[in-house]
Amino acid sequence: METSLLHHQISLPLVNWFDTHQRKLPWREEYSPYSVWISEIMLQQTQVDRVIPYYLRWMQRFPTLESVSIASYEELLRLWEGMGYYSRVKFIHKTSKIILNQLGGQFPENLDELLKLPGIGPYTAGAIMSIAFNQNYPLVDGNVIRILARIFNIENSVERRETKNYIWKKAEELILPGKARWLNQALMELGALICTPKSPTCYECPVQKPCLSFHLGCTEQRPVVQPSKKAIPIKVVVGVLQKDGLFFIQQRPANGLMADLWEFPGGKINQGEKPEDALVREFQEELQFSIQVEKKITTLKHGYTNFSVTLHAYLCKLIPENQSPILHFASDYRWIKSEDFRAYAFPAANRRLINLLIKL
Ligand code: SF4
Repeated sequence: METSLLHHQISLPLVNWFDTHQRKLPWREEYSPYSVWISEIMLQQTQVDRVIPYYLRWMQRFPTLESVSIASYEELLRLWEGMGYYSRVKFIHKTSKIILNQLGGQFPENLDELLKLPGIGPYTAGAIMSIAFNQNYPLVDGNVIRILARIFNIENSVERRETKNYIWKKAEELILPGKARWLNQALMELGALICTPKSPTCYECPVQKPCLSFHLGCTEQRPVVQPSKKAIPIKVVVGVLQKDGLFFIQQRPANGLMADLWEFPGGKINQGEKPEDALVREFQEELQFSIQVEKKITTLKHGYTNFSVTLHAYLCKLIPENQSPILHFASDYRWIKSEDFRAYAFPAANRRLINLLIKL
């Protein structure tokens, strides 16, 4: 299809549809580079409904780039708690400081310059360029891949590099000069509301006419993808160590999974190992603490992207009482009062356990 035909049959109907059907979302009230940046980083791997309260809380506390740059990393992390992918927070903090201290407080209106900033990859840079600055840049996320694979009836796996390049090229051809802000959002909105992964509502779709897979009756078979891997089941045990009314918590290392978050000590249960024995072993290996397991608190199940975790939690105490930890895994530790749990950021399963402890 020629570019002008693509614009006439796909881009224009999409932009018009977006104009009347777009959801009222808080980051659509103003298209400042700061609000686009924060919302796009939050929306990576996270559903819109889940992001909204986080975004509103964030903007209330940090209405400007400057307020982020002068805040403590701990505070940013606390506001982010529960959204996962915590390295995003570190990058936001670093980037805010660079923009403020080295770039005069202004986001660069240039793709290559944006790509030099920590945590800003091609997608986020494209989002800032097109949605904030309304420059003619395409945006390709999971929604756009699905829609274009259906419209153009792409029979090859969308995981292949050549297919990805083809989709990027199509997204580029679809850009209406001067309308990138609306076209890119229209594609994403169509993917969220109409052209959904399962059972797309084609009868309401503004681009049903040019959609090849609709006419061929194969919308459910597009896009072509490898079957997703099953979440790996993991059994873990954690210990709530109490002394003189205080709780022991430790901070995870600055790199790796759930970096910098606080947690109760513990770890994976080995094959054939009892949870209580695993706990005694983990306290010894991680902290050189000798403990006595007192009683079971609960068993929680928690799903992460690639893992399904069964977490056994126990109350425990130090035997003898006057031991100091030697940190082999954690970067820091604290003995805190129960009312201070709010002041630290914890992984989701630990936070569920804390909510339970507070009620006990
Ligand atoms: Fe998606 Fe159906 Fe629209 Fe095609 S017609 S783009 S499959 S919603």
